[in-house]
Amino acid sequence: MESIQDNDDYGVMTDEKWQAIISNDASYNNIFFYAVKTTKIFCKPSCKSRVPNKENVCIFHNAQQALAAKFRPCKRCKPTNERLPDSEWVTQVTQYIDKNFTEKLTLETLGDIAHGSPYHLQRTFKKLNGITPVEYIQHLRLSAAKEYLRQTNKSIEEIATCVGITNTPYFITLFKKKIGHTPAQYRQMIKGGEIIDEKG
Ligand SMILES: [Zn+2]
Repeated sequence: MESIQDNDDYGVMTDEKWQAIISNDASYNNIFFYAVKTTKIFCKPSCKSRVPNKENVCIFHNAQQALAAKFRPCKRCKPTNERLPDSEWVTQVTQYIDKNFTEKLTLETLGDIAHGSPYHLQRTFKKLNGITPVEYIQHLRLSAAKEYLRQTNKSIEEIATCVGITNTPYFITLFKKKIGHTPAQYRQMIKGGEIIDEKG
């Protein structure tokens, strides 16, 4: 294999192509495709998705090359002209949340990242996972918080920040609502042996 620069599978980004991407110019569809390295998704030039950072974009001559380079077709513009199965789409979003739940995540940003409408994402995610994306994010954050309470001496405020919740009172309220105790009580109970290796 040649290095990436010498590989003919990758097209060259030009001003003309970049203009086509930012203006969603459908006349360039099937002339080239663009992929975004950070999301691993590729699109037609006409795609109405959020404009990516130029430095994260690579260009392909056709959809097969993008697929071969392990990019996935965008749900919104369907560059392979096939519908991405809902299960695969939701798996992509779930994996993204698993990696990024400590970041600021909203349904809107997830919809942008996954190239679908927030409404459709909410419905499809819930249908397949049984809970909404926001509930899933909360679940991951609280599980991580419980780990921190067990394993570290970090303050409640530090733990809230570590798991992606910058508002400490909100963190305490959410924790109490879902877990049944405040974070401080929970830590006390762990120390006192009242909670042993509780999961979930
Ligand atoms: Zn797209």
